[in-house]
Amino acid sequence: MVELMEREAKKRKAPVYTLKGEIKSPFQHLVAALLSSRTRDEATASAVQRLFSKVRTPEELAELNEEEIAELIKGVGFYRVKARRLKELARKLVEDYNSEVPLKFEELVKLPGIGRKSANVVLAYSGIPAIPVDTHVHRISNRLGLVKTEKPEETEERLKEIFPVSMWDKVNKAFVGFGQTVCKPVKPLCDECPLRDECPKVEVKG
Ligand code: SF4
Repeated sequence: MVELMEREAKKRKAPVYTLKGEIKSPFQHLVAALLSSRTRDEATASAVQRLFSKVRTPEELAELNEEEIAELIKGVGFYRVKARRLKELARKLVEDYNSEVPLKFEELVKLPGIGRKSANVVLAYSGIPAIPVDTHVHRISNRLGLVKTEKPEETEERLKEIFPVSMWDKVNKAFVGFGQTVCKPVKPLCDECPLRDECPKVEVKG
């Protein structure tokens, strides 16, 4: 199932796969995760590209003022608030962590603007087993009947029981990519979905 999702998402050039070249370091994953909340994937992708064309490190980000950051990330939801958070985040990394991203869940969630999902994104994309659950992962897991949960934290715990640790690094990307391209929040492309035969929520047209 995960492989089918991954294949479909790559074929359809899901942003989560096409952005791979832009986002490499834990710092860049941290920033991208912060920008992505309450924002369309395409808008996040554009903001990430603009910001990282100017800054590559926490020091460089900390040197920009809030207005400059806001201008670069314009287009993402609550961009002024996020500009302030990014500035605080960059300062904290420079001052308290020697410009390194701490790769521990408990430390990550103490950083400005970083919640459970973002912390898990940074861990998962840094090679540390984790399953970040965003709206795509939560929605698709419930639609497919893998889980029956209200909250993303519950979905995370359940998915960790379902999938072996060796697969955790693939789960987030495959689900997100599939959610960006096929199992969309509104009007999912059920007619074109490779999982329609097993899906209890398949929407049949006509
Ligand atoms: S059949 Fe429809 S609802 Fe089910 S996983 Fe596929 S796109 Fe999503």
